[in-house]
This record gives sequence, structure tokens and C-alpha cells, in this order.
Amino acid sequence: MKPLPIRLRLTLWYCAMFAAAGVLLSVSNWWMLKRSLKATEYHELQERVEDVQLLLMQLGPHASVESLQQRLAEIYQIKDDGKYLQVLDQDGNWIYRSRRMIDEGLLPGVPGLLPPEGTLVEFHQGTRFVLALTYPIHANGRAYSVQTGLALNKSMVLLSAFGQKLFLLTPAVLILAAVGGHFMSRKALAPVAAIATEARRINDRNLDIRLPISPTKDEISDLSQTLNQMLERVESGVRSIRDFTANAAHELRTPLALIRTEVEVALSMTSRSAEEYREACQHVQLESVRMTGLIDGLLMLARVDSGNETLRFESIDANHLVRQTGEKWKTSMLQALLDFYVELTPEPVFVSGDSDGLQRLLTILLDNALHYTQPGGSVNLCVTCEDNRVLFTVADTGIGIAPEHQTRVFDRFYRVDRTRGRTFRGAGLGLALARWIAEKHGTTLSLKSTVGEGSSFSFGLCAVSTAPQSNSEATEYSLSRS
Ligand code: ADP
Repeated sequence: MKPLPIRLRLTLWYCAMFAAAGVLLSVSNWWMLKRSLKATEYHELQERVEDVQLLLMQLGPHASVESLQQRLAEIYQIKDDGKYLQVLDQDGNWIYRSRRMIDEGLLPGVPGLLPPEGTLVEFHQGTRFVLALTYPIHANGRAYSVQTGLALNKSMVLLSAFGQKLFLLTPAVLILAAVGGHFMSRKALAPVAAIATEARRINDRNLDIRLPISPTKDEISDLSQTLNQMLERVESGVRSIRDFTANAAHELRTPLALIRTEVEVALSMTSRSAEEYREACQHVQLESVRMTGLIDGLLMLARVDSGNETLRFESIDANHLVRQTGEKWKTSMLQALLDFYVELTPEPVFVSGDSDGLQRLLTILLDNALHYTQPGGSVNLCVTCEDNRVLFTVADTGIGIAPEHQTRVFDRFYRVDRTRGRTFRGAGLGLALARWIAEKHGTTLSLKSTVGEGSSFSFGLCAVSTAPQSNSEATEYSLSRS
């Protein structure tokens, strides 16, 4: 079954609760009225019995049965409370018996056998509904049974009139409950409606709008706050996508413009030597290589963002990884006139990681070290192991990074200074990628750097005990220019 809308459900709940409370109140009122009427009637009957007892006592211990009969008849035949009255003494003599009691034929019972609190009995007589109390009394040393009754018609009429009025009020209570329920549900849902109205306005062009937060600290203000926090995350996500697109376009524009200029110049000149054409082609090739690198980086980051870039973890020989990477960079370092040292641990150590990913990370760091270190400087790639922690470090004696740039160099497209370094290169994506690889390995890429002295990038991984298939010899060697 399709669930009802929340406003209708709230209305029905309010209505049901309001109506249930109304019915409960009416029934309890009716019941309490009935009980207090009963208590009043009992009390009234008891007072009548006490009147009879008082009278018998006033007549004294020596009054004969006949005189008692005469006196009670004088008093009660004309009194209303004598209509349902009969008095029997302990010897079975009727002291008084009203016409109505004779007609009913009720017998009060022997005084000695009656319970001290008396007994109640109800009976119909004609149109009357009578409640009678039979009570044992003592007067002047003699015991009597007094039975006195009361027509309940008045209290019954009162009770039924009250019940009828309550019953007639029921539809009014229900209507009131429905209207009240509707009003209350509207009031309760008003802040939600306000949030919905504001949320409907938000689109990708005005993500800076925030939802209203009610001043009361309740679930609704919690909801607004949570949605606002979500909007903040969405806004920053969209902003970074826009920045990424704008930066990527900007970065691609430069090499493309250079290629275009180069080609246009080559075409505009009528007679050019083969050497000049070769030079132009070399420039075009250089820029194409740069563009390919940039596009590779962009693709990799796009895959990272979409979650498609996954790492395959395995047990890796740390020395083997470092030595292999070092071998690849040996020639470039020598060509750049840099001393290149590779340090390994004396004992074999293993880490859990993605071999390609870690190689890529080290490659990014070594590439930067190569480009930001002046000829004659040195680059150190080393792996050490301490307290079950394997630390990979790439240190150089290059230009260094000023403190204000040290956290920002890990941001995408961030470059300290385009004109610094050996060549104009890179789009500022390398360290962003390196940081992502480190994070995926559960570690952080940290940087220590002093301007003019050099930089050192490092990350630590937990040592694992499982040995990989490939065997490695633990050693230390340097790849120096000399
Ligand atoms: P790029 O491709 O420009 O090198 P990176 O993300 O790898 O991009 O580096 C960002 C910036 O950090 C570089 O432009 C450079 O200014 C600075 N940087 C990175 N590594 C070093 C280093 N070893 N020495 C000095 N500066 C560095």
C-alpha cells in the first residue's frame, strides 16, 4: 500500500490522539459523576437510618412496641423519607412499615444477622428505580433492622442527560481534533516547507546559497545544518572540477600555441635550410612530449577522481624497488651533472604496496629533484628501516621550497615559480599524484625543505614479513658522476 503523505499522517495522528483524549475525559467524567452520585445516595440512606435510631432513642427504653409504632407512624407517614421505610425489632415486631415497602414485600432480615455496614439492594417499582439500604441499629439496648429506600430516578435522569450531552459533543470534538491536527501538522512542517522552497532554488550556478537554520536547536535545525554542510562539500567539489578544467585548458593552451607559432613561422618562410626545419620539428616534438605528459597526468587524476584508478597490493622487496628505480634514473642524473646516491638497508625488508604505484611516486620525486637541483648538486634516494617502519626518502641539494609554499606544492596545478628550475616544465600535477599514491598506501608524503639548501620528501610504510618471489641482495651503492 502506498504510504500516506507525512502531513496527512500527522493530521490523522493528532486527530486520533485528540479524539482519544476527549473520549477518555468524557468517559472518566461520566464514571466519576456516577460514583459520586452513588456515594451521595448511600450517605443519604445512612442519614435516614440515623434519624430513625435517634428517634427510637428519644422515645426511651420503656416505650412499648405499640407506642413506638404510633410515634413512627405519626412522623413518617407524612414525611417523604418514610415512603420507602420499614423498621423491624429483634423480636420480629414491625415498628413501622410503609405502604410501598409492603407492596414490594421486601424483608429486612433479623438485626443480629446483618453485616455492620448494612446491605444494599436495588429494585423496580412501577416507573421507579429504588435503591434500598438495610442497616442494623441499636437503641435503648434493643436491636432493630432499618430498611430505607430512595428513588433513583432523579440521579438517573441527571446521569443519562450528562451522557447524552457528552455523546452529542463527540462529533464536535472530532471536527475540532481534525482541524487542530491539520493546523498543528502545518505548523510543525512549516520549517521543512521553508527548507524545501529554498532548496528548490539551488542549482549548479548558485551553490553558495545556504538553507535557513531555525534558531531553535532541534531536529529541523540539525537537518538544515547537515544539508548546508553537504552543500559546502558539493560546492567545493564543483569548484575544484571547474578549477581543474580551467587549469587543464590553460596548461594545454601554452604548448599548443607554441606548436602553432613554430609551424606558422616555418611555413611563412620561403627558403629555409634543412637544419632550420629540423630545429622547428624538434621544438614541435618537445612541446608534443610535454603535452603528452600533461595529458597522461590529467587522465590519471581523472581516473583517481572517478575511483577507477585502483592499486594492487602485494608484498614488495623495498631494496629491489629502490634499486630498480635508481637504475632507471642513473643516466639522467649523470647527464644533468648530479651526484646520485642510492642507499639500501643492510637486511632485506618487505612492504605491502602497489609496485607500479610506488615506482611512480619515487619517479615523480626523482624527476623533481633532477629538475630543481643545479648541476654539481646531489640527489639521494634511500630506504631505511627502523622499528618495523620502512622509510623511503628522496633528498636533493637543490633550490628548496619556501615555507609558505610547502603545503601548497601538493595542490593540483600549483607551481612555486614557473621560471625557476632547470627548464620550464611540469604543470604542477606530479606531487598531487604522489600524495594520492601515498595516501592510498595509508601513509603521508612529508616534506622538509630549506630555500637554497635543498628538499627532502619521505614516506613510511609498515614492514611485512612475507618475502616476495624475486630475491634481492641488500647492499648500498652510489651512482656518482666521477
Ligand atoms: P611540477 O610538474 O611542476 O614539478 P609538482 O607537483 O611535481 O609539479 O611540483 C609542484 C611544485 O613544487 C613545482 O612546480 C616546484 O615549484 C616545487 N617542487 C617540487 N619538488 C621540488 C624540489 N625537489 N625542489 C624544489 N621545488 C620543488
